[in-house]
Amino acid sequence: HVKLRPELAPLRTYNAGLSLEAVADRCGGGPIAKLGSNENPHEISPQVKAAMAQAVETAFLYPDPTAGRLARKISHETGVAVERMIFGDGSEDLLNVLARTLLQPGDEVVTLYPSFPLHEDYAQMMGAAVTRIELTHDHRIDIDALLAAAARPVRLILLANPMNPAGLWLSADDLARLLAAQHPDSVLCLDEAYVEYAKGGDFEPATRWLRDHDKPLLILRTFSKAYGLAALRIGYGFSNSDDLIGGMNLVRTPFNVNAVAQAAALAALDQPEHVETGVRDSLAERDRMAAALSDLGLTVLPSKGNFLFVDCGRPATELADRLLDAGVIVKPWKQEGYESFIRVSAGLPPENTQFLDALTRLLAAPG
Ligand code: PMP
Repeated sequence: HVKLRPELAPLRTYNAGLSLEAVADRCGGGPIAKLGSNENPHEISPQVKAAMAQAVETAFLYPDPTAGRLARKISHETGVAVERMIFGDGSEDLLNVLARTLLQPGDEVVTLYPSFPLHEDYAQMMGAAVTRIELTHDHRIDIDALLAAAARPVRLILLANPMNPAGLWLSADDLARLLAAQHPDSVLCLDEAYVEYAKGGDFEPATRWLRDHDKPLLILRTFSKAYGLAALRIGYGFSNSDDLIGGMNLVRTPFNVNAVAQAAALAALDQPEHVETGVRDSLAERDRMAAALSDLGLTVLPSKGNFLFVDCGRPATELADRLLDAGVIVKPWKQEGYESFIRVSAGLPPENTQFLDALTRLLAAPG
């Protein structure tokens, strides 16, 4: 027997969703609608593919450990200094680095619930206690409870905006209130994985706060969603705190972002129209799906992401399993209180139709 750290005892292996390979046999050779992982279903642009091919030519060399060219480009576009940026092997790497930088047994982490599971898992991995701010009964963010928790000196306040899986978001006003309420001893991390889908309306990215906010703030972004580079694993963070970035740089592995990913991300930033078209198409499909699901009598939470969180009114694990027979992958939610919910991503129109048709059939079937 190998003695593991006791903090690992409550952890479960992350439910990373099903890959195409994993379900190929199950789906009988037909088309598979992969709608369980909030990916961007649109093709990578030819320019990004060319940049990747070029990077492969020098794959015998270690990558730039600072992702310098990419950092300078993002700095140029956002005004954030390169010294206040950090890159990761996906933003999940940065969540892991953040936990290892800040947390020790006895610390408290505040999250919104239902949460992106890794927000809780990495805190638990370090022995920290997680305080969940649950949604109200009518599925809204309990902003008063969040503000009250934020006002206490906790180690870390960690939430996704927009939230995953719920799709809900803090309005610009609520974000301002949260930043005002934040205790000066707490680090606030806003995981903006879906920010490109969320812009507009009452949503505001947190970046503008980096300049004036006088308490530690970290904003996480990813190239996995709107930029469509999920397989390459690259995300980044912005902070107003040199201490925090310095600490995270001590903890992260030196070559945590591979060269092909760096090159692809750089090229993708040069194709904003490609990204915008994809975002627009995904949002149109998301709204079409939301309307169809509501017509089926299901409760669909409002979403600012490229996905929907849907109460199917029956055990979601079974339903997701039946959907697999129809070649449709969705994510049945496993967190307590949400076992009748699925999270479904907006895929390409035929994929979404395949999902809606299969779900309609399943819900109509007796028993
Ligand atoms: N944060 C949130 C809220 C997410 O939904 C995801 C991906 N599902 C991630 C972080 C991780 O993304 P990646 O590691 O691909 O950047």
